[in-house]
Amino acid sequence: MIDQHGVSVEKRAWPAIRRGLKCKCPNCGKGWLFHHYLEQVKHCAKCNEPLAHYNVGLFLPLVVITVVIHVLAFVMLELELNGHGSPLLYLYAVVPLSIMLPIAILPSSKGAILGLMWAKGWSDEQDR
Ligand SMILES: [Zn+2]
Repeated sequence: MIDQHGVSVEKRAWPAIRRGLKCKCPNCGKGWLFHHYLEQVKHCAKCNEPLAHYNVGLFLPLVVITVVIHVLAFVMLELELNGHGSPLLYLYAVVPLSIMLPIAILPSSKGAILGLMWAKGWSDEQDR
């Protein structure tokens, strides 16, 4: 991969994903990736890396729904296998968990996907 100065740069995926999980810039790991809940910044405040042309699209809900379904299935299976599976417990524990878990993991998931896209160079600029 070649940067804007013509210098060959190797962008490693796992460090970028790890930085994205912390909602930090995939390049430097210091600047914040979002300035609101899920609104990504146009440029990193620390290293000025352009981040606006990375669009996670429908991959974000796919990842979040997959994670949430697996967590909820594990919780419900544990409740049933231990004999605690009752409709009231599902109503008061599993339903709120199914609402709060996606809200909690959305920024980190989006950051991880943005980190992967940044490392692989999968940006909207390729389509232009
Ligand atoms: Zn940065």
